[in-house]
Amino acid sequence: MSDLIIENGRIIDGTGAPAFDGSVLVRDGKIKAVGVAADKEAKQLPGLKSIDASGQTVMPGLIDAHCHLAFDDAGSNAEIFHQRRNALSALVAAYNARKLLRAGVTGILDPDSTFENMIDLRDAIEADIVEGPRMSCGAYALITGVGGTAGRLINDEGTTGYYMAVNSRDEIVSEVRRQIKYGADWIKVHVTGIIPRQAHKGEMCVWTLEELQLICDTAHELETPVMGHCRGAEATRRAAVAGFDLIFHATGMDDAALREVIDRKIPIAPALTFQANMVDFGDKLGTADYLMKLFERELTDSVESMTLAHKEGVPLLTGSEAGFSMVPYGDWHYREMEVFMKYFGLSALEAIQCATQKSAFALRMEGETGTIAPGFQADIICVKGQVENDIPSLGNPDNITTVMISGAEKDLSPPPERKPIPGWRLASMGSRLSREVVFGPEAEPEPLIIEELH
Ligand SMILES: [Zn+2]
Repeated sequence: MSDLIIENGRIIDGTGAPAFDGSVLVRDGKIKAVGVAADKEAKQLPGLKSIDASGQTVMPGLIDAHCHLAFDDAGSNAEIFHQRRNALSALVAAYNARKLLRAGVTGILDPDSTFENMIDLRDAIEADIVEGPRMSCGAYALITGVGGTAGRLINDEGTTGYYMAVNSRDEIVSEVRRQIKYGADWIKVHVTGIIPRQAHKGEMCVWTLEELQLICDTAHELETPVMGHCRGAEATRRAAVAGFDLIFHATGMDDAALREVIDRKIPIAPALTFQANMVDFGDKLGTADYLMKLFERELTDSVESMTLAHKEGVPLLTGSEAGFSMVPYGDWHYREMEVFMKYFGLSALEAIQCATQKSAFALRMEGETGTIAPGFQADIICVKGQVENDIPSLGNPDNITTVMISGAEKDLSPPPERKPIPGWRLASMGSRLSREVVFGPEAEPEPLIIEELH
C-alpha cells in the first residue's frame, strides 16, 4: 500500500453535495486530505505517487448492499440447491469477484450463501489471498418449516442451498448463536415465503412476531444485526417492530408498515434492479408479456411508499440482487441508482449517496467508508466523464480507470474467458415438442419418408 495523490479530478464526495474540482491525498490506506489541503500536504512529500484524473470523476467506490456472490448467475433455485459444490462455488465466486472490482464495486453485503461459504471468501479477501471487494456476510438464510420462496424444493428441516430451516424456539436460538460463532456479520431471515397452494396471494409472512423478536434478541445480545427478506406489508411491519436492522425489498408497504419503518429509520434495500431489467429488457429474452407487467407492478406499487420513506429520512441502500442470470456480475451494480431516480424521484447525487455513504451501513462501516473525506478508508474509484450526468457510464468497465480499497489499487484487467464446468448448470431438455409445434394447429402430419432421414 503506497501513499498517493489523485490530482485534477472532479470529486463527488458521496454525501449528496455537488461535485467540485480538487485533489485527494491517500496515506496509510486512508484519505488524509481533500482539495487545497491535499495539494499543500503533498508538496511536503517528495516522490509521492500521483494519479492524473483529468476529465474524470473521483468518487467513493460503489457498495452493493445485496449481492449473492456464491450463486454464479444461476438460472434457477434448483441449480443453486442441487448442482453446486462447496469448495468449487467458493473458487468460482473468487473469479466473479474480479468482475465486481472492474465495475467499480468496492464493497458488498452478501446476504446468504450456499454452504455459507462466502464467509470463507470474505476471510480470504481480507487476508489478501484473493482480490475482491470488501464483504460483509450473512450465513444461511433462516426460514421456518413453511419454507422460503421455492416451495417443496426446500427441505422441511436442516439446510437446502442457502436456506436453514429452524422449527422451534430452541433451534432459532442455537442456529443464530452458531452462525455468529462461525463468522456471520449479519443474521439473514426470510420473513416471507411462498406457500404453493396459496401462491396467488404472493409471499406471506411465515413467522410470528415473537419468533422474529427472539431472533433479534439473540443476535443483538451478541452485537450482530439482523436483516430480513420482506415482501408485503405485514412482514415489513413485523420485522420493524421486532427490531430488524435492515429490510430487503419492503415492497407493498401499507401505512402501518411505513409508519413503523419511518419511526425507526430502518434502512431499506429494495433490490429492484432485477425487476427493472425484466421490465426494460425482458423482451430481449422473450419474456412473456404478462410476466413483464407483473414485474412492472412490483416497481410501480412501491413508488408511493419508497418515495415517502426517502423523504422522511429512511436510508435507501442500493442492492443489485446479482447472482442470478437476470443480473449478471459486473454488469448492473449501478442500475439501482437509476431505479431510485426514475421511480422514487431521487436526484443523481442523492442516488450516488445511497450507493456510497448510505450503503456503508450494509458493510457495518458507516462513517468509515463511502465518503471522500479525511479519515475515511481510501475506497475510491476514478471514472471517465461526469458521473452524475451519466450514471449508466458506470456500467462500462472501460470508463473505470482506477479502483482502490484502503488505498491499494486493484487489478482491472478482464478475467480470462471461462469454460463450462461439468454438472454445474441445470440441464434443460428444452420446450415441449407437441404435435402442434411440429405440424401446426390444423395440418395433418406429413407421412414420414424414411430415405430422407439418412
Ligand atoms: Zn437476494
